[in-house]
Amino acid sequence: PVVLGIESSCDETGAGLVRDGRLLGHALASSMDEHARYGGVVPEIAARAHVHALLPVVHRALDDAGLRMADIGAVAVTCGPGLSGALQVGLAGAKSLAYALGVPLHGVHHLAGHVAADTLEHGPLPDPCVVLIVSGGHTSLLLVRDLARDPIVHLGDTVDDAAGECFDKVARVFGLPYPGGPAIDRAARAGDPRAVPFPRPLTSGDPRTRYAFSFSGLKTAAARWAERERAAGRELPLADGAASLQEAVADVLTRKAVAACAAHGVGTLVVVGGVAANSRVRALAEERCAAAGIALRVPPLRLCTDNGAMIAAVGDLLVRAGAAPAPADVSIDPSAPLEYAALHPVAGR
Ligand code: ATP
Ligand code: MG
Ligand code: FE
Repeated sequence: PVVLGIESSCDETGAGLVRDGRLLGHALASSMDEHARYGGVVPEIAARAHVHALLPVVHRALDDAGLRMADIGAVAVTCGPGLSGALQVGLAGAKSLAYALGVPLHGVHHLAGHVAADTLEHGPLPDPCVVLIVSGGHTSLLLVRDLARDPIVHLGDTVDDAAGECFDKVARVFGLPYPGGPAIDRAARAGDPRAVPFPRPLTSGDPRTRYAFSFSGLKTAAARWAERERAAGRELPLADGAASLQEAVADVLTRKAVAACAAHGVGTLVVVGGVAANSRVRALAEERCAAAGIALRVPPLRLCTDNGAMIAAVGDLLVRAGAAPAPADVSIDPSAPLEYAALHPVAGR
């Protein structure tokens, strides 16, 4: 069946249509511009924007695929984690559509969506694979087997900020526009990545933190550096600061991810989430995976940040795995831990 995926966990309203692992069409609306002047996502504004965007985005995705409502055979929706008001809107819309069409509904973990995004470009994930998920709210190293059936093993997570959060917050201190990640990436192009010796947190080799991440110290180091430069009366060498910060983040992320593959004898690394769009993260991952003989998979840019296609991709995997649909009273879970791709009980679990 054709699976409609709906994403509304943050500031993007996304719809995607997937059948048998293939992306048929998708559409996206963003309230990013409405948040820019506040320097971050305002939950109430995001929720209201989803109300306005949801149905038009579903219709645009259908147009993109050349399909009609009646062609939809199942609906998948992000149930968490994310902003609760934003999630509520997506779930209410998805429930209504599934009920009206008489098709099953599947509740999906947003981060499983980021992982599944890659399958739309590169086909089924090898079992097992190591996944580095780096986004605005999460930074984790995972061991993934069958995404639709097996529990997801956390090798390590961030102990404080996410990598994307670090980019976003430092960008603000540097006076760059929101969202910060892409702005740092652009500013870094003209900079020297060795200009500022930013720390490489949790890389001492201590086995207890081998796959853990920490980015809040890096954020503070970048803020202190900017303060010192400004206090010295110099114009902030932004490009050098951005390039050095990006280098530190990319270095730590890729070093630990490649080490995890080697330690677990896993031949494939998958890098997903919004920060997988970062040019230096992509380049260094390529370089280090090639040197270690590891196959690297990174989704194309448009599938790295939040979208509906990735949620449809998880729904499609669940449907094909014969997963039980969500109960009629399925609810959102704004802080759902990533244990399974489905956010409701699945047969055989
Ligand atoms: P989560 O998925 O953890 O709930 P989210 O959905 O807000 O959080 P994503 O949409 O996956 O996160 O990614 C957004 C993050 O990616 C932001 O922090 C943004 O700054 C970052 N990002 C996007 N493009 C780039 C880039 N080119 N370089 C660095 N960071 C980037
Ligand atoms: Mg976003
Ligand atoms: Fe996300």
